[in-house]
Amino acid sequence: MAAHQEKKLAQERKHKPSQNDTQTSQAQWGRAWEVDWFSLASILFLLLFAPLIVYYFIMSCDQYQCSLTDPLRDLLTGNKHLSDIWNKTPPLTYQAAGIYSLWVAFQVVLYVFVPDFCHKFLPGYVGGVQEGAVTPAGVVNKYEINGLQAWIITHVLWFANAYYFHFFSPTIIFDNWIPLLWCANILGYAVSTFAMIKGYFFPTNAKDCKFTGNFFYDYMMGIEFNPRIGRWFDFKLFFNGRPGIVAWTLINLSYAAKQQELYGQVTNSMILVNVLQGIYVLDFFWNEAWYLKTIDICHDHFGWYLGWGDCVWLPYLYTLQGLYLVYHPIQLGTASAVGVLMLGLIGYYIFRVTNHQKDLFRRTDGNCRIWGKKPEYIECSYMSVDGTKYYSKLMTSGFWGWARHFNYTGDLLGSLAYCLACGFAHILPYFYIIYMTILLTHRCIRDEHRCSSKYGKDWKHYTAAVPYRLIPGVF
Ligand code: NDP
Repeated sequence: MAAHQEKKLAQERKHKPSQNDTQTSQAQWGRAWEVDWFSLASILFLLLFAPLIVYYFIMSCDQYQCSLTDPLRDLLTGNKHLSDIWNKTPPLTYQAAGIYSLWVAFQVVLYVFVPDFCHKFLPGYVGGVQEGAVTPAGVVNKYEINGLQAWIITHVLWFANAYYFHFFSPTIIFDNWIPLLWCANILGYAVSTFAMIKGYFFPTNAKDCKFTGNFFYDYMMGIEFNPRIGRWFDFKLFFNGRPGIVAWTLINLSYAAKQQELYGQVTNSMILVNVLQGIYVLDFFWNEAWYLKTIDICHDHFGWYLGWGDCVWLPYLYTLQGLYLVYHPIQLGTASAVGVLMLGLIGYYIFRVTNHQKDLFRRTDGNCRIWGKKPEYIECSYMSVDGTKYYSKLMTSGFWGWARHFNYTGDLLGSLAYCLACGFAHILPYFYIIYMTILLTHRCIRDEHRCSSKYGKDWKHYTAAVPYRLIPGVF
């Protein structure tokens, strides 16, 4: 793969452009250099309110059976004061600090010290040392892809403990959920602050740093593109892909165990949430090498948005359906259960096939077959910071001919299925689909803005050929 990529890069490097071209490209590729007032206001809002939102959701389940309106009503009618709610909130405990430290340390060990062996015996799985995309400074980073292995080892140990060793109860995560929230916050803020200081004083690659001069924007969106410690500890890959996402399925299993403990059975809705989200998580790890080419790794700098988001937002809010089902053990009728399963699987199918089509197309440089035919595409070019001109292609075949982000559409259908598994009594489990709709629509617009800056008139040709973003004929 490395040799193939180097050859491709060598072929792609055509000429050095003028100084002007270079400056234009520097200004427009990657995240912003200057902050407009709207971005700043959004960032301040998120920095202030995102931790409160997470607390509010988790507290609502802990103290109000997952009702989002009852705490507000209590506060507005004077029935309760903020201090009453706060005083009932479990504090940070030594036990939670111990569990969390062990958890993160274990994931660091699996990430840094256990080279991948899965790719040696799993046909079709791409693991081991892989290359990421070209950074704005023209660097190609190497990554040790061993997430699937980390996930398997962690889950084998989990089940071995649950069914054989009994060192701790499988409800341990649920039972310490709020004390663990404080630990996750401490890590999230610590890593984001460290990343900011590192960006100023000892960046991994100075040419891949961006400074806006605005403290809050830099803290939130990150300065360094790919901060690393040593050769292999990559912050973005580790925090995006390990403590939070490996934990996602364990958290759901812990919720299922709690249902079993409380009600003597696990409901079909809980099984559906575990299975559908489990497929999504496993897919992520099976395709971890592909993930190196997604926006998170290719374009986002590492700041609070990724650091805190991966430590707190993801494990706490992406698992709300399972948490809700502990408090409301819903048993769906057969037709509803089959409907939710089908929607989840169709969403997953669209998500996976669309992502696969782009990956195959890009890997083979268009020399592949999409739906049995040679793919159609638009040729385009762009420049890196050092002024080197590269050529690329935007596919207009397969699902990529239906809409410009049909992978997001599949993701949204799958997300809706998790929420529907929880019935219609409360809004809380629907947070996920509401959030994903906002996230992916915003991401779509952000990505298109970036692509438009990157590819210029070639992007216009592409949007003329594929006019819709998410839903053909509608948006
Ligand atoms: P994409 O995988 O869609 O990548 C977008 C990039 O692909 C563009 O920047 C462009 O990059 C390239 N591209 C765009 N159009 C084409 C085309 N027609 N042909 C070839 N290349 C094209 O986006 P993401 O990285 O955001 O998402 C990856 C997946 O992850 C999605 O399925 C998404 O749903 C999922 N996701 C899930 C999240 C979650 O929290 N659950 C969060 C974010 C994403 P280039 O510069 O290389 O041309």
